[in-house]
Amino acid sequence: MEKKKEVPRILVCGTGVAGSAFAAILARRLGGNVALTVTERAERVRDQGYGLDLDVYGQLAMARAGLYDHYWSISKNRSDSMAMYPMKGPEAQFVYFRPNLLRKWLPSVFGAQPESNRGELRALFLRELETTYAATTKVAYEQGAFELKKAGNGVEAFEKGGKSLGIFDLVVDASGVHSPLRGYRVDDPEGKHLDFYMMIHGVVSNPEATVDPEFVRRLGTHGTLFVFGRGYFFFTQRFGPGDDDKRMALLYYVPTDSETKLFDDIGIDPTSSRRDGIMTDHRLEKVKEWIVKDMGDHFDPCYRDFVKHLDRVTIRPNVTHGLQTTFKKECDIPVVCIGDALLGCGIGGGGNLALKDAVELAELLEDPSAFEKTTGGGLVANLPHLRKKEAEWLKLKMDWLYAKETDLGPAVFTREPGVVELEWSHMWPNSPIKRFILSTIFKWFAALTCWWFKLDLKHGVANSHPASPHFPQVLKAAREAKNRTPPNVVLKKTN
Ligand SMILES: Cc1cc2nc3c(=O)[nH]c(=O)nc-3n(C[C@H](O)[C@H](O)[C@H](O)COP(=O)(O)OP(=O)(O)OC[C@H]3O[C@@H](n4cnc5c(N)ncnc54)[C@H](O)[C@@H]3O)c2cc1C
Repeated sequence: MEKKKEVPRILVCGTGVAGSAFAAILARRLGGNVALTVTERAERVRDQGYGLDLDVYGQLAMARAGLYDHYWSISKNRSDSMAMYPMKGPEAQFVYFRPNLLRKWLPSVFGAQPESNRGELRALFLRELETTYAATTKVAYEQGAFELKKAGNGVEAFEKGGKSLGIFDLVVDASGVHSPLRGYRVDDPEGKHLDFYMMIHGVVSNPEATVDPEFVRRLGTHGTLFVFGRGYFFFTQRFGPGDDDKRMALLYYVPTDSETKLFDDIGIDPTSSRRDGIMTDHRLEKVKEWIVKDMGDHFDPCYRDFVKHLDRVTIRPNVTHGLQTTFKKECDIPVVCIGDALLGCGIGGGGNLALKDAVELAELLEDPSAFEKTTGGGLVANLPHLRKKEAEWLKLKMDWLYAKETDLGPAVFTREPGVVELEWSHMWPNSPIKRFILSTIFKWFAALTCWWFKLDLKHGVANSHPASPHFPQVLKAAREAKNRTPPNVVLKKTN
């Protein structure tokens, strides 16, 4: 009888964007050469948030999982741009977009990047694991991993009550900012904490049909509107895929250091679970009233009208980790953290950074040197190899979080009595030179973006659609994934 080949046993904790993408890519790349177990603390079907404009890495994740053909079925046509408006005033001050000319000439930088639906993205990855790769992948919901113990060269994982989830050669912690496993990998003296603000999210099902036409005019074909002042700001963002799904999310920021105080101010009880947190009952009206009151007269009426048409709301703290996070000096347990589990980056790019980790970790594990055979039998993960990459991810996330917290963060998150306009003097308070350069150059650059976007709009070429230029590196990966069968991994022997 032929001897069964020994393949690495990998446990993936969490099926957010990072965990589901990582597992789907690895299943596709390694096929029968890996035994994947995926465990998720929450139920399978649940609210997954709103939009995500997948950058090169986000799109590469889909391509490498062999799913890029579905990209436009989860994305919104011509939704790439973000317009920034002051709290009062009918004209955008800055448009973040990909000019048609640059999309054509330099698609590797300016390839299509519309808003995609986060829930649909995750569902695609999970469906693939549960159907195509069902023979090599076990996926379990309502089963969290909370404890790890070294077991030989591997690691044993346990549920909350102490029930074993099995022994694995590697655990990939993708359990997000609330990860209970992160402490095995890093030291973080400050730990998980509420950072600057609470966020009120909500959904308007069809702004075109319900909201003040002036709002709809300002929105135009943009995927995102960002309306800002000093300590007052919000985003409205498309997240319904296809042309008929008009859903838009509201992300309203409330600078505060106390979660309880916000619930008290609104006059509702703090929510007890993710499901309970989605408010469509009597609490919805109270929250809407509170936001409208908080906006006061600072914003144009069309924005308050958007709030009045919300069909549901959720209140969530903006949780992140400490900037003093370092790797543990001694960690011989084969566990690696990806996504927000490594450092909670959250809104504004955390999703794309999480997908980057997923793509790169899968790439590393595909290499035949990722696991080695021991003389005593069994496999051992090549930890130094993995940890080098993990350190790169942490550095990138630290830099990103540091910039968010120290430069623009305080300027937009701070409220000052009687001051609602955001002035240049509020930005980069410790760097007058930077402030001067930006305040002089940026003014012209911002005006240029508004003019250029209008020009693209006039010629019917603003923002991308399925026939627009895409990132060539993604198209190449998608083609390669389609034409390839998983390689037969040959494992090296160690002494
Ligand atoms: C309102 C909002 C809007 C955002 N918009 C953007 C955006 O436009 N662009 C962007 O790039 N980023 C955005 N982000 C940030 C982005 O959503 C996160 O950075 C991203 O979701 C992190 O992915 P993750 O897979 O690491 O963690 P998560 O998405 O948090 O997933 C973690 C998963 O692990 C599960 N889990 C938790 N504990 C356990 C356990 N013990 N065992 C097993 N499973 C467990 C959780 O249930 C969850 O499913 C936004 C965030 C928010 C809140």
